[in-house]
Amino acid sequence: MVVVPEAICDLSKLQSLDLSDNALQSICPEIRRLRSLRHLRLANNRLKCLPPELGDLQELETLDVSMNLLSALPERLHRCHALQCLTADRNSLHCLPRQLCQLHSLNELSMAANRLATLPLDLGRSPQLQFVFVDNNVHLKGLPSYLYSKVIGCSGCGLSAQVSELRLLSVARGELSVPLPPEVQAVGSETEAVVPLQELAMRALHHAQHSSSLCRDANSLPQILIPRTLLELLGCPVGHCHHCGQSMFTVVYPRIFPLRETALAGMHLRTRVSFVAYCCSIQCVRAFDLQI
Ligand SMILES: [Zn+2]
Repeated sequence: MVVVPEAICDLSKLQSLDLSDNALQSICPEIRRLRSLRHLRLANNRLKCLPPELGDLQELETLDVSMNLLSALPERLHRCHALQCLTADRNSLHCLPRQLCQLHSLNELSMAANRLATLPLDLGRSPQLQFVFVDNNVHLKGLPSYLYSKVIGCSGCGLSAQVSELRLLSVARGELSVPLPPEVQAVGSETEAVVPLQELAMRALHHAQHSSSLCRDANSLPQILIPRTLLELLGCPVGHCHHCGQSMFTVVYPRIFPLRETALAGMHLRTRVSFVAYCCSIQCVRAFDLQI
């Protein structure tokens, strides 16, 4: 089977659909009509992309897109509020949308054997997320410190000398270089103890937007001109301070904890990764420590 028969999308009460082990090259946007769908399996096909309309499946609990040709996941997946298990092993994913950190029901995330060089800064911030498998992403050298207390699989990570062809900011500490997501525009250091004005302005706007019960969406922001890219960042911060929870937009203060120096070292032998705490200020980065 190369395409999904459209008639399937008329089955509005269908709860489980398994189209694994076919030759599917695309999924039609009409899949959004399967409003009752709870389990969708598309493993072992030839999918190069997924339709954003998957994000309209509000009942979806399981999504398996392993063994395809995916280079990205749709940002709109974060609207699948019921999603508990997301599996995308053995694809060609370069990064994960940071919006996925807003999936508050997600319990298990499996992204083994992809091309990930970075993970979203907030990954693991949700207490519901307990299982994260990113084994065999050879370019991945840094895990967000939120993952320290979770069940993680990272065998085969960080073994590549070359990080990525993408131009990414990096945090150098001796031999170790951990790339940062492209949304992070600057790395705070000890010598720049004051947060840049743009960052302060965005934190203030974000705080104003979320503390007022009258303005809940981006459309009700004060009538000032903000570049679209910054507006999108305002709606979904690049991350939250691993120490105090403050929203962060363009600047982070990272601190690296090499795995070999942590209590988990003995459990992860064939790997070379670090935990990275991303903080909002030099004060938080100094106060941060890894905790189980
Ligand atoms: Zn902080």
